[in-house]
Amino acid sequence: MNVENDSATEEIVANVRKRFLALYGTEPHIFTSPGRINLIGEHTDYNNGLVLPAAIDKAIVLAIAQREDQQINIFSESYQMRYTCTLQELVRTEMLWPDYILGVIVELQKKGCELKGVDIVFDGNIPLGAGLSSSAALECATAFALNELFEFNLSPLEIAKLGQAAENNFVGVQCGLMDQFASVFGKAGHLIKLDCESFEFNFIPFNAKNYQVVLFDTGVKHSLASSAYNERRQQCEYGVELVRKHHPEVDSLRRVNKQMLDDYVKDVDRMVYKRCDFVVSEIQRLQDACQDLLKDDLESFGRRMYETHEGLRDLYEVSCEELDYLVDRVKDRPEVIGSRMMGGGFGGCTINLIASDSVDRIVEETSKAYKKDHDRNLKVYFVSIEDGTRQVL
Ligand code: ADP
Ligand code: MG
Repeated sequence: MNVENDSATEEIVANVRKRFLALYGTEPHIFTSPGRINLIGEHTDYNNGLVLPAAIDKAIVLAIAQREDQQINIFSESYQMRYTCTLQELVRTEMLWPDYILGVIVELQKKGCELKGVDIVFDGNIPLGAGLSSSAALECATAFALNELFEFNLSPLEIAKLGQAAENNFVGVQCGLMDQFASVFGKAGHLIKLDCESFEFNFIPFNAKNYQVVLFDTGVKHSLASSAYNERRQQCEYGVELVRKHHPEVDSLRRVNKQMLDDYVKDVDRMVYKRCDFVVSEIQRLQDACQDLLKDDLESFGRRMYETHEGLRDLYEVSCEELDYLVDRVKDRPEVIGSRMMGGGFGGCTINLIASDSVDRIVEETSKAYKKDHDRNLKVYFVSIEDGTRQVL
């Protein structure tokens, strides 16, 4: 089973097309939809705050053609498996991977969009479950492709929201909109400064200069992740409630400042204060980090990544031993100007900004050390910032 595909996206496009021709005997339309990274702005989305994601050079490749009947045929190249159903029997599957596609079709049907059957082959090179949002990429590839094929005239924002709705309602994962938004709206060489309250956004040029974005995958996912996530959300809501007694206009941490936390939360609940302190600081940090980029000060930007990690570790308490280890290994190295855990926490990847001429050495040293101290093989992903969902054939 080839679930970790390191090939370049162009190579996958060629393979998927070949498979499609062999299976269905017609020429497909082909779409790509990328995974994403998030530079700064963690746990801010559900607090109506800001996030700073970017689409990457790893993507889902989806080949598709319309049928005249009601049949849905899907072939997963990664799993070498086929799934077949009709438009009238869209239900969750045992395999999970078809659900991201079926979920989008169900959400389209809910909107009153009329579909016919389709033939699909898909593959990708986004590592699965590593926090790069392969699931959002698959949803957005599907939504974008169906919109083109059947001319629904949906806007890019509607396409991203369809993907999110599929994940929330059909797959059953309560994610925000960031992942789908980044996949659809991504722009080469730019970060997306996205306001999760208004969904307004602007592109911030990301001039990586002599630095490379490198992800270190801990290879762990601690089971605490989902219960802790729900608990953090509740703690943030409680913080808002305490402030709202004095400022009725406040409806999220986005509208809260440090002074309010000191005045109304600190003495009531120390733990809730820490959580809220992180979120309020993180939103400000993201604003400052964007200023750094506009001044072309990547070193300052990197220092803020380290600060984000410290906040996630000490105040929000969603890091874990493996993530802390990987950040600690690089933090005193002048070649690594920024490093932090990325994503919800308790596992997944760290994101690092490493001087290009030192990447090989840092990767080798970190891998060796991780093997020795944690007995795990470090997976390393090199990413560049590319365009969002598009048609390639
Ligand atoms: P993440 O979104 O962080 O990568 P998820 O667990 O949300 O992790 O989504 C991963 C799931 O998405 C996989 O288990 C699989 O069902 C589906 N998926 C993603 N990419 C592919 C692919 N290339 N081929 C088949 N299924 C995929
Ligand atoms: Mg996902």
